[in-house]
Amino acid sequence: MIDFLMERYNLPKYRKEQFLKAFFQEGINSWDEMTTWPTSLRDILKKEIPFTTLQNFTEVTSRDGRTTKLLSYTQDGYPIETVLMRAPKRNTVCVSCMSGCPVGCKFCATGQMGFKEQLDHREILDQIMYFKRVLKKESKELTNVVFMGMGEPLLNFDNVVKTIKDIIDPRMLGISHRKITLSTAGYVKELEKFLALNLGVKIAISLHAPNQQLREEIMPTVAKANNLKDLLLTLKRYQLRTNKRITYEYLLLRDINDTSSHAKELAKLLRNQICLVNLINFNESEGIDFRPSSKKDIDGFRRILDQQGITNTLRYSFGGEISAACGQLAKKSG
Ligand code: SF4
Repeated sequence: MIDFLMERYNLPKYRKEQFLKAFFQEGINSWDEMTTWPTSLRDILKKEIPFTTLQNFTEVTSRDGRTTKLLSYTQDGYPIETVLMRAPKRNTVCVSCMSGCPVGCKFCATGQMGFKEQLDHREILDQIMYFKRVLKKESKELTNVVFMGMGEPLLNFDNVVKTIKDIIDPRMLGISHRKITLSTAGYVKELEKFLALNLGVKIAISLHAPNQQLREEIMPTVAKANNLKDLLLTLKRYQLRTNKRITYEYLLLRDINDTSSHAKELAKLLRNQICLVNLINFNESEGIDFRPSSKKDIDGFRRILDQQGITNTLRYSFGGEISAACGQLAKKSG
């Protein structure tokens, strides 16, 4: 974002370093706070580069103070939602890479709102910077970034990759690749291309069903075009090469994918893999015709995975009360 300015005004290299430090590391709140630059240069900055590309911010924080959902809009007026999750030892921003989503998974509020717009690299980055500044005011650090908000990251490939590089770059956000997670619904060709970049970020697969048929029912767009066998083969090859653990997200939908036979099938599917199954109970959303699993069924499901040696967690889904939990990002004011 600064390179064109450097060229146009023939600025010395150290100005770029000062810019990156102030904007990304110190998390300044406006160009006026960039005091390492003289006023004349700051005026150029104000004229040439918007401080943020997002607008009309609305924040809602959960009663326990742990989750804040941000609704903002692109310059074209499309809504984006971003979530900050605070935990004792980490603060995670969940970013959106699209406004809406073209994939249309049946359980997902974002998918049901349809596709509005791809976000460019700066719009994704500005979501992260927004919460970096919020955390700074709370004397906290941003530690993790997950690409699990609105949209399928691998269908906005170049912008997502560029953003990840900026997050990792020690001159910019300087967050370790181990603290970044990219979640995909399973676009195989794009995933192969992404893995070949060796960025070292964690991969999470939105699996949600233990077989091809059920995946096609609840995630028709992605599943019909990307066979589960091919997806698993790609992940297996990646694992053989890197020895990295893969996380599978599995949303529990009552009577759809949460029975004991589904659990057995899932265990069989993931046998011999170094993986973690992240179980998430469905959060009810307006207009979405699924129900959460009962505690008894969740316990039964987990017992089977445990017996079969599949490491699993039941993820506390942050922010249900403000519609900020998984699959609930769909521009409701909360
Ligand atoms: S689950 Fe992900 S890929 Fe599917 S519709 Fe929702 S945002 Fe898109």
